[in-house]
Amino acid sequence: TTLYHVGGWGAPYFFINRAGNMAVRPHGFNSTFADEIDIMEVLEKLQEAGEIGLPLIIRFPEILKDRLDDLQTAFQSAIFRKGYRGKFQGVFPVKCNPDRYVVEDIIRFGGDVAFGLEAGSKPELLMAMTYMCKGSADALLICNGYKDAEYVQLALIARQLGMNAIIVLEQEEELQIVLKMSQYLRMQPVIGVRGKLSTKHSGHWGETSGDKGKFGLSATEILSIVRSLKNVGMLNALRLLHFHIGSQIPSLSIVDEGVTEAAHIYCELSKIGASMRYFDIGGGLGIDYDGSNSSASAMSVCYTVEEYAEQVVRAVDNACALKKVKSPTICCESGRGLVSHHSVLVFDAFSVSKLPCGKEHSAGEDMKVLLQYQGLPHDLMVLSEELARFLKIGNVEGALACAKQLKVECTDSFKLGLISLEVRAIADQLYASVSSLMSEELKKASLPSLTKKFGLGISDVDQIATYHINLSIFKSVPDSWAIGQIFPIVPIHRLDEEPVMRGILSDLTCDSDGKISSFVAGDVLGKPSSFLPLHKLEADRPYFLGMFLGGAYQEVLGSMHNLFGATHVVHVVGKSGGSFQISRHLSGQSVSNVLYAMQHDPLSMLTDLHSRILDSLQEGRFGDISEAMLALHMLQRSFSSYTYLSHDHDCHSG
Ligand code: PLP
Repeated sequence: TTLYHVGGWGAPYFFINRAGNMAVRPHGFNSTFADEIDIMEVLEKLQEAGEIGLPLIIRFPEILKDRLDDLQTAFQSAIFRKGYRGKFQGVFPVKCNPDRYVVEDIIRFGGDVAFGLEAGSKPELLMAMTYMCKGSADALLICNGYKDAEYVQLALIARQLGMNAIIVLEQEEELQIVLKMSQYLRMQPVIGVRGKLSTKHSGHWGETSGDKGKFGLSATEILSIVRSLKNVGMLNALRLLHFHIGSQIPSLSIVDEGVTEAAHIYCELSKIGASMRYFDIGGGLGIDYDGSNSSASAMSVCYTVEEYAEQVVRAVDNACALKKVKSPTICCESGRGLVSHHSVLVFDAFSVSKLPCGKEHSAGEDMKVLLQYQGLPHDLMVLSEELARFLKIGNVEGALACAKQLKVECTDSFKLGLISLEVRAIADQLYASVSSLMSEELKKASLPSLTKKFGLGISDVDQIATYHINLSIFKSVPDSWAIGQIFPIVPIHRLDEEPVMRGILSDLTCDSDGKISSFVAGDVLGKPSSFLPLHKLEADRPYFLGMFLGGAYQEVLGSMHNLFGATHVVHVVGKSGGSFQISRHLSGQSVSNVLYAMQHDPLSMLTDLHSRILDSLQEGRFGDISEAMLALHMLQRSFSSYTYLSHDHDCHSG
């Protein structure tokens, strides 16, 4: 557990079970022993059914429900404890994970508490409208984002359909569109304004907040909207104040500052005469990705959902009490906080790059070859003798510094054509051999003393292997590439075995950015580790890894680089009395799907290839017609196959 710090980021949903596998408590703290689901058992069940294509997203809808219940309960309890007069109503920002079943589940799970949806574009709005047909009539439909006339029409139609749709103005100009369209459809709109706060948070996700932020209306613009509404006798349409401090708010002090600032804007609007009713705090509830529970780490937060809710309610209550304004309904648009945990990405490592030199390779033998080498330039010979001397007297630190210099100088000499490839390779191997000797020494000595003496760093002594993974980082973990976000990654089995390797992960794409080399550290919390402790790959035994907490944004931000498509998805739910069932199996994109998405026509592509096969048959390139038919059959199968590696070696023979 400490190696991967599962207890930190994983609680209460993920843990290592007694079989040494990653396992899930789908009801969090309310789970019983019988509810626990072993992820390896899920894979085994899929394998039995012949449905084990990896990579694969496993969704746990019960975790989603638990997160929603937690958020709701946190606010309700805070409201009760404070004696706050208003209520709480959540909405889910569909941009966070617009998957059909995620949205459907949220509407279903949140039906009793009038949980609604937030949309920021026309497709999102249409989707939200459709799913809210099945939701509670009180649920809010928050219409954010930049708007044209068509967007506003959709929002007004939603009101005509009896939905509680609120058009939140992002820009002053949008008001004229709303007034025009309301007149045209003869509908009274309900309007909100998005305030631009001076409160800003420092992390990556805070960039869009603050005075210079991308979104929202300044105090002057808000007052100008108020005047315009007053002029047309529609000030009573203004009922909501919205703001969004930024995603992944690191600390409660920022929540307090932002909510207090916004609460005063709300109160002022109410005093001016607007029929204010809703106070929408946007998203921002953070996730402790590295489990360090610290605001100093960009990948962590130092508060719980309960503390967040308590802080929000207290700040709104204080401002309303001070300004003697009726307490509003508090609305929250938490996305990351709601959906991150419920989905686990499972993938396999299919090979590992050989380290430059294994421990079995002895430095002494290389040394001998080098010293006997004819025609070694004088300076390299001097360096080699120095290295041999260090090795002889057992001074590994001196040997490593010397081996490093020898490697660099041999590389330079090779580029100048002064030494052979063989000498260069020996220098590389010597450096790797001495590094592994130093790795052993390191277990006894401390690294700082080395750093001081020789200017050596961890990269000089660490033998980090590259594990090749059956995944596209651009498709499945885009924030790792785009903004250096760290997600917890853990082998999902063999956790009762010591992981003797240190690895980084390299994906299937032909892109040097397609790698993950920053991980949650088990020892120095809050500081990323440059390697992941991993097990040796074994022949005929797959090695499965899981990426956790990636249920928000990753699926929708993922791109099709190298034409790797959407992964398979399964839904896993508990059965009463224990065990689990796979309640849904959704196939990922096929080769045809991704080609089609790029405007190609797979059917005509196959037709072209078919006629080329017939021509080739006539030209005698095939032995006989059965060989030509086999080629056609293989091509057909490839169009309908999964875009990722298949480890089924027979897949094209039948
Ligand atoms: N609401 C708005 C307006 C947003 O821009 C965002 C995301 O950036 C969210 C809600 C969701 O934020 P989070 O996922 O951090 O809760």
